[in-house]
Parts: sequence; structure tokens; C-alpha cells
Amino acid sequence: MANLITVESFSDPLEAHLAKGRLEAEGIQAFIANEHHIWANWMISHALGGVRVQVNSKNIDAAKRVMERYINGAYEKELNQEFNDLNVKLCPSCHSEAYTNSPTRLSKFLLIISFGLLGIISKLKKVNHKCNECGFSWKN
Ligand SMILES: [Zn+2]
Repeated sequence: MANLITVESFSDPLEAHLAKGRLEAEGIQAFIANEHHIWANWMISHALGGVRVQVNSKNIDAAKRVMERYINGAYEKELNQEFNDLNVKLCPSCHSEAYTNSPTRLSKFLLIISFGLLGIISKLKKVNHKCNECGFSWKN
């Protein structure tokens, strides 16, 4: 019988699944514990020690090395080096990085309503982009 040891725990089940996927990509079989309890009642997450990513005890050293690289961003850095910077958004028309952002009218309206009625300032999610090179406009 496998002896499972927690290599890392997360408050968010989705983060735990990402870590599990990273371990499995490195050839280390991993399991998730406490996920369903936390989906059902996230307030007990800390009491349960979070969503645990567990591996067989014989793989714990390799798994800790993978998790250390995962958490300090080493894999993300490698990905950015291989595929350029993934966070840089480009104009879909001419692939220029030079564009301006402005909130959509709907976003501005929702911000005014949420602040006026509820006293909450929400983040403007919908943004218009306009390319400075070719003039192409798009939303995200
Ligand atoms: Zn453009």
C-alpha cells in the first residue's frame, strides 16, 4: 500500500490541480486530498490544512524539488523564454505592442452603479484596446 505524503497544500482547489499537473508532467504520480470538503465549505479550508497535493513517500524528495521550482516561478520563466513573454499582449491585427487601453462604457456604468448603490468599487474588467500602429480596436 502506498504511503502518501503531503508535498504542498493550497487554499484553492484549482491551484492544487495545477500543482498536481506539474508533478505528473515531471513523471511523479500525485493525488489531491480534502478537495471536496473545501469545495463544499471553503471556510474550513484552513482547519483541514488546505487542499493537499500528495505523493508516494518514495517520490517525496523529487516532488519537493518540483514544487520548489513551481512555486518560485522557474517553470513560468522557462515557458516565457521559449515562447517569448506570454504576458505581453499584442495587437491581433499587426502584432504591435503599442496600444492604449480604456474601460468600456458598460464597465464605467457598472462601476458608477456599484459604487453609488453599494459603496463598492469594483475593478474595471472589460477594456477597449486601440492599436497605435494600425488603429485596430478590440475588447477583452
Ligand atoms: Zn495593430
